[in-house]
Amino acid sequence: MIDVMCLGKSYDGTPALTDVSFSLRPGERVGLVGVNGAGKTTLLRILAGASMPTSGSVTVFGADISRDREHVAGMVGFLPEVPPLYPDLTVREFLQYVLALRGIETTGTLIDVALHAVDMIPASNKRIGTLSLGQRKRVGIAQAFVHRPKLLLLDEPGSGLDPIQLDHLRTMLRRLHGITMLISSHLLGEVQETCDRVLLLHEGRLVEDISLHDMRQRCLMMLDVVSSCDAAIDVLRAIPECHVLSIMNKSRATSEIRIVIPKKMRTALLQHLITSGVVLEGYRADPTELGDRLRDVAKGRMPACA
Ligand code: ATP
Repeated sequence: MIDVMCLGKSYDGTPALTDVSFSLRPGERVGLVGVNGAGKTTLLRILAGASMPTSGSVTVFGADISRDREHVAGMVGFLPEVPPLYPDLTVREFLQYVLALRGIETTGTLIDVALHAVDMIPASNKRIGTLSLGQRKRVGIAQAFVHRPKLLLLDEPGSGLDPIQLDHLRTMLRRLHGITMLISSHLLGEVQETCDRVLLLHEGRLVEDISLHDMRQRCLMMLDVVSSCDAAIDVLRAIPECHVLSIMNKSRATSEIRIVIPKKMRTALLQHLITSGVVLEGYRADPTELGDRLRDVAKGRMPACA
C-alpha cells in the first residue's frame, strides 16, 4: 500500500502541492492527470525520492520516504519526463549500469525481460546516442522497471512515441501484473485504456480521485430552463448527487444549466424538476469524458465531484 498524507511542497515559498492525500492499493494502475503546472511531476519526484516534501508524509509498503530513503528507492522505479541516459553506452550496457547502481548482480535475464517488454532486443547493442527519440523513451521505460520494482512511477511515458509504440506501451503496462503504477499523462486515451483509476490535480490540489468505472456511470446534462433560473438552481443544489457545473444565459428567456449526475438518476431528475415547477424547453445528455472533466476543472467550473 502507498499512503500519501497531507502532502505539501513549496518552491521558494510558492506552493506546488497543497494538502494532497490518497492511497494506492497493491497492483493498482492509477493515472495522474492535470493541466500544465498542476503539480504532477512534483508529486512523482517526491514519491521517487528525488525531492523531499515540505510537509506531510508518504509511506511506500510501510517504509517512510523521509526516514527510509534507501529502502524505498529499492522498491520504486521512476521514468522522469527526460530520462537520464548515457549516449556512449549501448542499451544493454546502460541497463547493466542501472542494475549495478542498485547493487543488483546482473543476471542478464532481468535485462532481457525489460528489453523484450519495450521491444528493444534488436537495438540492444546500439549506442544510446544513435537512437531515435522514441527508442530512447523506451530505454527510459526499461530502466524504470528492470529491477522489478513494486511501485512504478512513469512521467509522460507516451510522449514522443508513435501510434504503434503507444499500442505496444499500453499492452506492456497492462501485462506488468502485480506492480503498482502511477502514470502521469496528457494522453487521456492512454490513461483511460491503461488505468483503473484517475487522480486529477489542479493548481497543486487533488480535486478528483475516481475510478474510471464510476466516471462512466455519470452523465453530463445541459438543461434549457425557461422558468426562473435561480429557482431551478435551488432545486438542483438540493440533490446531493447533482453537481452544477455552469449557468449560462442563452437569451433573456432561456438559461442553460450544465450539471453532472449519475446516469441512472436522469429520468427521476427530470420528473423532479417538473413537479418542482421548473419549466424546461429542452435538454441534452452526454457521457462524461475524462477530457471534459479536465477542461471543467481548469475553467473553474467544478471544484470537486463525489
Ligand atoms: P506539466 O504538465 O507542464 O509537466 P506538471 O503538472 O508536471 O506540469 P510541475 O512540473 O509539478 O507541474 O510544476 C508544478 C509547479 O511547480 C509549477 O508552477 C512549476 O513552475 C513549479 N516548479 C516545479 N519545479 C520547480 C522548481 N524546481 N523550482 C521552482 N518551481 C518549480
